[in-house]
Amino acid sequence: MKDTFKHKGMRQQLVATISEKGIRDERVLAAIGKIPRHLFMDSGFIDHAYVDKAFPIGADQTISQPYTVAFQTELLQVEKGDKILEIGTGSGYQTAVLLELGAKVYSIERQKELFKKTSKFLPKLGYRPKKLIFGDGYKGLPEEAPFDGIIVTAGAPFVPKPLMSQLAIGGRLVIPVGDEVQIMTLFIRKGEKEFEKHEFGEFRFVPLLENKN
Ligand code: SAH
Repeated sequence: MKDTFKHKGMRQQLVATISEKGIRDERVLAAIGKIPRHLFMDSGFIDHAYVDKAFPIGADQTISQPYTVAFQTELLQVEKGDKILEIGTGSGYQTAVLLELGAKVYSIERQKELFKKTSKFLPKLGYRPKKLIFGDGYKGLPEEAPFDGIIVTAGAPFVPKPLMSQLAIGGRLVIPVGDEVQIMTLFIRKGEKEFEKHEFGEFRFVPLLENKN
């Protein structure tokens, strides 16, 4: 598990690329610049790790494109100490970004294989989420609610009601909604029954799957 000078150089180029694409939040850019993305991928090839693209991580899943990770994280507006729920742990890369921002992270993954692998891997890099859960993200995590932010990292055919209800007042839900193509959507909870909705263009994710656990 090496992080060389060359890796660091490639990472700074990646930061420059996503910054040119419109990511402005310095804390998010710093997190991307710090996390050794190549270690989150089986092959570890820097040509794959430090280009702005999604990449297969096994079990038919992908590590999201760095720009997408940065875009979603920026929308979430994480403050230090915020309680954040992530749906779709996958490689744990997005989890690491949230931890770099000082969040208390709870993350749910429905693929056993990925769940086990990432549970072992993250602490090796010094990343300690509050809880990694093997389960169904559609249900959220009622026992730990409310959350200051919820981030869904798979394409949701619809917005699961439990996720809306597990948001704190003032909390933000960032979720790509749609089947083939998803619209990045931000909900801000303004009151018990009041949500503000904002839409941010098209993205493509692997699907949020139902009913496995
Ligand atoms: N955040 C991840 C992205 C992984 S891709 C990363 O940075 O690597 C999306 C992930 O969502 C996959 O690992 C997939 O198994 C998971 N997923 C799909 N449906 C889910 C569900 N209902 N509950 C929890 N996780 C789910």
